[in-house]
Amino acid sequence: MTEKTCPSLDVIRRISAEIPTPFHLYSERGLRERARGLNRAFGWNAGYKEYFAVKATPNPVILNILRQEGCGVDCSSLTELMLAERVGFSGDEIMFSSNETPAEEFEYARKLGAIINLDDITHIDFLEAHGGLPEKICCRFNPGGDFVVGNAVMGRPGDAKYGFTREQLTEGVRRLMRKGVKRFGLHSFLASNMTDNDYYPTMARLLFRTAVELHEELGAEFFMINLSGGVGIPYRPEETAVDIDLVGERVRAAFDEILSPARVGGNVRVVTELGRYVSGPNGWLITRAVHEKNTYRHYIGVDACAANLMRPAMYGAYHHITVLGKENEPCDHLYDIVGSLCENNDKFAVNRMLPEISIGDYLAIHDTGAHGFSMGYNYHGRLRSAEVLLREDGSFRQIRRPETPEDYFATLDFSRLEP
Ligand SMILES: *Cc1c(COP(=O)(O)O)cnc(C)c1O
Repeated sequence: MTEKTCPSLDVIRRISAEIPTPFHLYSERGLRERARGLNRAFGWNAGYKEYFAVKATPNPVILNILRQEGCGVDCSSLTELMLAERVGFSGDEIMFSSNETPAEEFEYARKLGAIINLDDITHIDFLEAHGGLPEKICCRFNPGGDFVVGNAVMGRPGDAKYGFTREQLTEGVRRLMRKGVKRFGLHSFLASNMTDNDYYPTMARLLFRTAVELHEELGAEFFMINLSGGVGIPYRPEETAVDIDLVGERVRAAFDEILSPARVGGNVRVVTELGRYVSGPNGWLITRAVHEKNTYRHYIGVDACAANLMRPAMYGAYHHITVLGKENEPCDHLYDIVGSLCENNDKFAVNRMLPEISIGDYLAIHDTGAHGFSMGYNYHGRLRSAEVLLREDGSFRQIRRPETPEDYFATLDFSRLEP
């Protein structure tokens, strides 16, 4: 069980007096606590760093808070690299884990001195031609088949487009060594939103063993094992949160058992690229009920839509909803909570029991801090919302203004329209 909390109606009223709904709200305290929790759980590894996955919450103020807590960033595109640079990240504080990478993005990443995480064996020559090979590089491993944790299939890497096969790793590392690369990292991302405490430890064992094999086969030296993202959060109240301290301990046990005795390269760093785990539970999409409709179902229409939060429409994802100010009222009404798009999947909740909702009520849609705003889009001419930071002292700050119609029209050319 997980208690679903959100800022109070008073706080939301205060913000919404200045910033119109819908808006994404983030908790500074929560973000800092998450980063500190990770640093504590993996503190046994001297080189540990969380490289926050920028795509989860690409806002400079958020990234800077995490930078203050000792995090780096994981980027996957040119603009994410530029964003990281402008926040002040440089060199090996930046991981560049991309795929189908354009030449100029490799060049930019090399210019910043980022750690390159190669997705494919053919990218060895491509990177050599575009930016050049660094002295140390990371390779992304895809073991294929099913990824099993305990007795359960947690993911199907064999169907995923990412990474080198095991054979390609041997061949790729050999080639990289011939081309002068001195030290290696190994990365894998095998399943998403995993709340099983054995997800990271199981993957860590696989990566540690593979590094030892590559060391024995080729004499390759390793500087880093990158456990990537994928640690999940309990979106539903009946789900249980990951015990990150336990996860850290189990990864340590695997490290001590497999990597330490093998001496694959001295002080191997263990790093993570978490997005959802860090920012997911620390964000809410705040919206207001604007219409109520009774047909074959009972609908509440809100002023946010799937363009502000795509996960329910895209994955059928559950997001908990609190009707603010009615936290203690009985959930005795069955609703669909819907947005305004002409798409019937634009539903934040389907058949959800909630307290009776009145027009004007504020709703907090939970766990929208990661892959929420950032997956937004402009379909139907819907404009992106503001992002707001709730500070530790209870004050708030707009950290992204809402889009205006001028923003929407800024990339269009009306100048040569035929009569
Ligand atoms: C998306 C992504 C992450 C973060 O994933 P989460 O599920 O948010 O933890 C980390 N690394 C890479 C390479 C990614 O693409």
